[in-house]
Order: sequence, then C-alpha cells, then structure tokens
Amino acid sequence: MIARVQPLTRTRAVRGPFDYRLRPDQSEVAVGSLLRVPFGGRPSLGVVVGLAGTSELEPDRLAEPDGVLPVGVPPDLVRLAEWMAGEYCSTPARALGLVLAPGATAGQRRKRALIAELSRSGERALDGTLEEPPGTRALTDRQRALLAQLRSRGPTVASELGTEALKRLQARGLVAIAQREIARRPARHSVGSASATPPPLTPDQERALAEILVALSRPGSDRKELLLHGVTGSGKTEVYLQAVQATLAVGRSAIVLVPEIALTPQALHRFQTRFGDIVAVMHSGMSQGERYDEWLRLASGDARVAVGPRSAVFAPLSDIGLVIIDEEHEGSYKHEGDPRYDARTVAARRARDHAAVLLLGTATPRPETVSSCRHLRLPRRIDGRALPPVEVLDMRGQHHPLHPVTRHALADLRREGGKAIVLLNRRGWSNFLSCRSCGRVWMCPHCEVALVLHRAGGFVACHHCGHRERVPSRCPKCASVAVARHGAGTERIERELTDALGAPDFPVLRLDADSSGLHERARTLERFQAAAGGLLVGTQMVAKGHDFPDVALGIVLDADQTLRFPDFRAEERTFALITQLAGRAGRGTRAGRVLVQTLAPEARSIAFAAHHDSDGFIADELIRREALRYPPYASLIRIVCAAADGAAAHATARDLHARVQAPGATVLGPAPLFRLRDRERSQIVIKATDRAAAIATVSAAVDERARAASARRVSVSVDVDPQ
Ligand code: ADP
Ligand code: ZN
Ligand code: ZN
Repeated sequence: MIARVQPLTRTRAVRGPFDYRLRPDQSEVAVGSLLRVPFGGRPSLGVVVGLAGTSELEPDRLAEPDGVLPVGVPPDLVRLAEWMAGEYCSTPARALGLVLAPGATAGQRRKRALIAELSRSGERALDGTLEEPPGTRALTDRQRALLAQLRSRGPTVASELGTEALKRLQARGLVAIAQREIARRPARHSVGSASATPPPLTPDQERALAEILVALSRPGSDRKELLLHGVTGSGKTEVYLQAVQATLAVGRSAIVLVPEIALTPQALHRFQTRFGDIVAVMHSGMSQGERYDEWLRLASGDARVAVGPRSAVFAPLSDIGLVIIDEEHEGSYKHEGDPRYDARTVAARRARDHAAVLLLGTATPRPETVSSCRHLRLPRRIDGRALPPVEVLDMRGQHHPLHPVTRHALADLRREGGKAIVLLNRRGWSNFLSCRSCGRVWMCPHCEVALVLHRAGGFVACHHCGHRERVPSRCPKCASVAVARHGAGTERIERELTDALGAPDFPVLRLDADSSGLHERARTLERFQAAAGGLLVGTQMVAKGHDFPDVALGIVLDADQTLRFPDFRAEERTFALITQLAGRAGRGTRAGRVLVQTLAPEARSIAFAAHHDSDGFIADELIRREALRYPPYASLIRIVCAAADGAAAHATARDLHARVQAPGATVLGPAPLFRLRDRERSQIVIKATDRAAAIATVSAAVDERARAASARRVSVSVDVDPQ
C-alpha cells in the first residue's frame, strides 16, 4: 500500500503530497493518520491525505514511514484543510496544522494517574455486612469516612483523597487502585444564572425554533443557512439551547462558536448547565493537556457538543447536525495567522459537508449575512421591556472628556444606586505625547505610530509591536521638560471616574487588554455582577453579550473613533458597537438609558444606532456597498509585501500587481502602509466578482514569487476577505 503524505513543513515552496510505502504491519494507516516520516533527509511529521495501490515512482525509491502516531485527524477534516489551503491562498501543511489535535505534533499524551475505587468488600464493609477474619482491626472513623467519600464520588484520583491511606485500605481488599488514563477538564466559571430545565419559549422564540427544526429535518444541505436576527435581550441563547437539544435528540452533534469564552463565560455556563458532560470546551485559557483531552472526548463521541471560539469550528465531531455562530458580527472570527481563515466561511463549508444547519445569531448582522441567509427575527426583548433610549451628545467644543450630561447622569446613578458600563475603545492613559516647545511626537522606533502612555505602569508603549520605554521626562531633541499628553484612554477614564465617584460600595472596574489574563477578566466580570452598584470601564470587551440585569446606564465615549479607520467596515463596526453597548442596559427591572459622546453626531451609523434601526442601517449599507463594489457584491483579497528595504517591498507589490490581473477584477495599489516592526510595507487590494478565479490567479502569482530566489528578502502575505 502507498500512503500519500503531506509533510507538516512551514515552507511555501514545498508542496506535497509525497508517496511512502507502508509496511505490512502498518495496515491501520488511513486518511488522517499522523506519521513520522523521513523527509529531505530529516525526520518529519506528515498527515496521510490519500491511499493508493501503486505509485508513479519505482517501489524501491519509496521510503517507509518510521512510525504511526496514536492520534490522527478524521478524514473530513483532512478534506476541509485541503479546501482551506486553496480558499485562503495558503499551503496544505499549514491548514492541516490547524485541524490536528492540540499538541499532537508536540508529543501530547493522555495523562495517567492512580485511580481509587470502592471494591465489593468495601461496599459491604460500609454497610456492615462484611465478615473479616477474626483479629482484624475495626475501621477507624477516618477510614469509614474515606470509604463513604469514595462511594459517593465514584472512581477518584487517589492523590485527591490521600494515596497512603487508600493503600492501607487496598491491602485489606476494601479499595481497588490502578493506573488509568484520566481526562483533564478545565475549571468552570459560573457567571449569571442558568437553569437546567428549559423555560417555555415566547411566541417569537417558538417561531424561530420551528424554522430551525424544519431545516434540521430537511435532507441534503440546501437552504440550511439561517440568520437569527434578535435584538439584544431577546433570548437568542435559549433558542440555541433548544436547537441543540433537538439536534442531540436525533442522534447528531453540534458546534457552538462564541467570540471569546473568557469574556462571555455566561454562554458557556448555560450550555454546561443544560447538557452537562456532553459539552466539551476549548479556549485559549486552557492548558494544552486540557485541550487535548477535550479534543479526544469529542473525537470518541463522549462529548457531542463543542463550545469554543473560532478554532472550535475544527471540532472532531462526526455527523454534525447544527453549527451555531453566536454574535456573528464579531471580528474575532477571523484568524490572523496563515491561513487567514474566517471561521464563519469555514463553518458554512463544514455545515454543507455534513448537511447540517448553519445558524448565525446577532443583534447587528453583517450586510453579507443578511443577503445570504434566511432571516429569522426576534424583534422584542424577553420581558417586553423597551430598548433603552439613546442620546447623542455633541462633543465639539467640549474640553473635559465627559460631557456635562454624562457627568450629571453618573452623579445621579451614584446617588440612586445602580450600575453603568462605560465604553472607550482606546487603551492606556493618553494616546500620544508631544513636546510643548518643539512639537516632537514620541513615536515607536520600529513602527510609524505614536507611543501610548500607560501611567500606572510608568511606560509608553507601541500597541502594534509591544515596544516599551520609560515615561520621558524631557525631550531628546530640545531638552524641554514640558511634555503634553493628548487624548484619553481607558486608564485615564478609570482614574477620573474613581476619583469622582468610586467608593467601597461603588467599585470602578476596568476591563481591557491591559487588565491581565483571561481568568482575571472573568473575575472582574464576576465582581461587577456581584456588586450592588458600580462602574465597568473598558474597551469593546465591555459591550460583548453580557447579561447583567441591573445596568441602568450605558455610555460610549468617542463613538466616532472607529469611524476614523480607513476601512469599508468602519460604519458597520461603529453601528454594532453602539447597539451592543445599548443592549447591556435596561435588562432588569430598571429602565435603561444610553449616552453616546461623539465628534460626528450626524454620522449615519451613529444616527441609525440611536434609533435602534438595524434594518435601516443594513439597507442603507447595502446600497453603499453595491455602489462601491464591496462585499457582498465583490470579494476582496489583500496582499501585503513587507521587507526591511522599502524599495524591495514596493517592487514586489508592483510585480504582483501586474500578475494578478484577472477578468472582472479591479486591482488597487500598490499603496504604502505604515512601517511595522521595522518592516516597510506595500499593499495591493483586488476587488473581484469571480471569487474563485481571483483566488486561483493570486495563488499562482504568489507561489511563483515564492519560488523566485529574491523572495527571501520580501515576505508576502495574502488575506482573502480581510477584516
Ligand atoms: P440575547 O442573547 O438575545 O441578548 P439572552 O439569551 O441573554 O438574550 O436572554 C436574555 C434573558 O432572558 C436571559 O436572562 C435569559 O435567561 C432570559 N430568557 C430567555 N428566554 C426566556 C424565556 N423563554 N422565558 C424566560 N426567560 C428567558
Ligand atoms: Zn522638544
Ligand atoms: Zn511598534
């Protein structure tokens, strides 16, 4: 037998598969097996992508694999990776790297431990029906308690109860102890309320679920892409839960994608409470061992619901009936490494492969989703409460970072009690520093961007490459000691609000990328949840799908900040951010109120958000996109050439520009981008109506360049559907 093997190498120029001759004792090798193979004179790992009876090469010129690793990949994920490699102009090896079990290539194994279990005699000893030889010492109270604990817990890791004590009971035959494989399980966070029994659905939820069930029971993969467009607080999660329930009931499995578990622990908690151990979780806060074990639980069928961020789209489940993408508008579904896949596109592909239903849920759908999916609606909040009124506050001519109306509203809240969420999409203290006498601006030495002041840490930092330096005390150019700070970030707003309003019974908490790790952030959310009143200040993280019943006030500072990005999605992002933040307010018994501070009060996205008019916004946005030929009316492909030498980067971009001309495609650029990590960059953008043809042309051009000798100095990265 011949195995066609794709070696797991990072090099773009090496493209398999390569043939290997299997030995008779390697008959268990199948598509998806992970092999150790000699490759280019060195040992390497490779994935079997096909089997064949014969090879075009002479049998004696074929090498044999050195070994077969215990855990491979299901064949459908091999096919998915091959498709992904093409769709995102990447290589099969890089795409296969994404679908392997976590740590599979790093020698990750199952953990073994001593497991203790009550024996039949142990049972009887506890019941007092065991007859032991005369002269045997009676069990102590401690020993009885230990046996009772074992009975209630079932098989338990011995060290958790005391290995020595258990071994003495083993010697008497009351306990059995053996080495066994154990599954490492991630710790659970419980935030918010969750119930194991489903509540009766509202009529709106009923209608949406009925449509999902119809799609679920329809054979084939046609008309199975559904958009659940529900206003914030309309009970989308409950619809997901019952759709998953129905999927499990017909014997199929489900994938639930969420933007980031540490920021939305509530969603995970609801799934675990409803379905228990059948739910497997994967997220970046887990150790590799935990992720490996959860992966195995899915692959073996012990777990049949996978919940996680974008990489959970690769969950090794068989017979998938339902793929859910919660908060489908979130940018985090796009992967920034190579291949630059979009989990929403991959999920759609995977759902079609399994003839599964794809369900995308959000309060702020992307225009492309609206135009491609069947539209289900939840137009009302669960409790019938109105969406909070939104007031737009004009900041032109204001000097304080908080508008007087905002300050009044916060003072009222402080007096009357309650919670507010304050969103400012900018970390740090102030966004740039300049010299008051010569005007010099403190810039990153590696990137063409200003350094941001982080006052608490005593440093200025580049938010692109992470470069840090001490806070300057004088200007290196003119030696002046007068340094001006411009703009306000979350750190400064947190301090201002703490000084003005903070108190032991009114905490001011901050949530952003600077506020340490994932667990720390989950704890911040737990504290905010538990407090009777207080403020949560932070970047867009504070606007994620949290469900706190007692948030009376939502405040967006500098709402047009996202509009100033030169990006066709700027409007969409701004609209989503304001709508999502408004969605956090007024969920409980208290009516909500939302204040939006902006320098651009007349901006379309802000005006539509202020009226909670997502249909109006989408209709308007679709007209604009059609006129400008943006998605969904065309596909975009972005190519970035980067090099230490700006001329070389630019020359490569010009060269590619000439090669990627495809019928029906417009090629924009090359345009310079700001220097990043000491590399000059040049970009071209292709707008294409024939997506497949454009991808093929770009792939061919980039591969050809990768083979050219001069390629080493210039790195070329391709981004299909850039964010
Ligand atoms: P969304 O995700 O649409 O913003 P959630 O799923 O967070 O909304 O639901 C809002 C609140 O309503 C949650 O506290 C949820 O438990 C509750 N809820 C959802 N459906 C029902 C129902 N049918 N009956 C009672 N409460 C419900
Ligand atoms: Zn100066
Ligand atoms: Zn930098």
